Amino acid sequence: MSNNALFYLTSDDMPVVSHADGIYIWDTKGRRYIDGCSGAITCNIGHNHPTVKRAMAEQLDKIAFSYRTQFESQVALDLADRLVDLTDGDLDKVFFVGSGSEAVESAIKLAVQYFVAKEQPERCKFVSLRPSYHGSTMGALGLTGYEPLEAPYRSITIGSVKVPSPDLYRYKETSIEEHITSVLEQTEKAILAAGAETIAAVVLEPVGGASTGGRIVTKRYMEGLRALCDRYGCLLIMDEVLSGMGRTGAWFAYQHFGVVPDILALAKGLGSGYYPIAAMMARKELVDVVGRSGGFMHGHTYAGNPLACATGLAVIDVMESEQLVSNSLKQGSYLRQQLEQLALKYDCIGNVRGIGLLQGVELVRDKTTKEPYPAAFNAFAKITSLAKDRGLLIYPRRCLNGLAGDHVLITPPLTVTVADIDEIITLLDESLAAFGQIVL
Ligand code: PLP
Repeated sequence: MSNNALFYLTSDDMPVVSHADGIYIWDTKGRRYIDGCSGAITCNIGHNHPTVKRAMAEQLDKIAFSYRTQFESQVALDLADRLVDLTDGDLDKVFFVGSGSEAVESAIKLAVQYFVAKEQPERCKFVSLRPSYHGSTMGALGLTGYEPLEAPYRSITIGSVKVPSPDLYRYKETSIEEHITSVLEQTEKAILAAGAETIAAVVLEPVGGASTGGRIVTKRYMEGLRALCDRYGCLLIMDEVLSGMGRTGAWFAYQHFGVVPDILALAKGLGSGYYPIAAMMARKELVDVVGRSGGFMHGHTYAGNPLACATGLAVIDVMESEQLVSNSLKQGSYLRQQLEQLALKYDCIGNVRGIGLLQGVELVRDKTTKEPYPAAFNAFAKITSLAKDRGLLIYPRRCLNGLAGDHVLITPPLTVTVADIDEIITLLDESLAAFGQIVL
């Protein structure tokens, strides 16, 4: 056997995974890695958790799969109720899917079907931010503001009206307040230019993930966006696929800003890597309107199956019993302090940003001018590889010409301790020292 049939095998020296426990992963050669990014910011409760394994095994003993048009399952009903209890406002309805892209895709289709049902079919355009990442399926990719991913598919995606994302590091105005005013004005102009009566929804990640390296916004920006949506009669969709489920030190990142969306997309931390499960939550009114028009014309075979929902319930149980949301806030603040110490030591760190255990580090060639590394230098890949050589996993993103420099996310499981963070920082420190030796 050649062992080279895997489509996504990116390098010949990719380690083969063996097993994991807590914050550590081992490969088949016995090397240990500290998971400084929860895989793809997914394993929020850490690896190999006995409570989740037990709940999954118990569910498997009963039934793994049943189809939602033939049976309801108690675990699906219970998980939906738990999610409604954790969220705010009228986010009273939950639609389960299997991935973040599917959750965003469901949000797009619910918004469109809602306006069709309200006899406003012209409301079918979306406004989203640049940079942003909303997933890899055609609708979600259409919303995504990330040139390398968009470019090959531009001719066949739905596309969206792209507006600037607030950038509290590289803004050009004289203050953050002025910057926010300017970004909101540009957003309103874009809505009007596209035809406000044609906009179905504005979509954003309340705290940026991979696309922006933990970029945060301000309360006034969020309130301004909500006001724009209300003024022009469109919906506000928040993509919390990455920032939700305690990652930022609140159950959902929108809670930091006190602005509740009409539709919320969740994924990664909900299944915490144990099983694919994601959700779209929506205001009851939207679901009622669509229900009266014949029901939501959308669904996936595996959606809300018992094994997925039992996993989600066990993950929430662990998060509550181990108080992982408050740990995320507490340890996130310690991690931030330590990253800022590294920023004082290394000129290549231009900015540290984020909330809770969603922290991003932007690398720059010149700290004073904030000049990014040339894209061809692939700083993001170099630092990630240096860290991996030292047994530390971090999550990289490439430089976006003119929009963002190379950055890495430091997003360990929410179970992380001070000692774990100290280990991550020591290995990152060594990796940055080695990075500094590479001649441009
Ligand atoms: N939305 C955001 C904000 C994400 O970060 C991601 C994945 O990284 C997605 C959507 C897509 O999720 P998935 O990869 O599960 O389809």
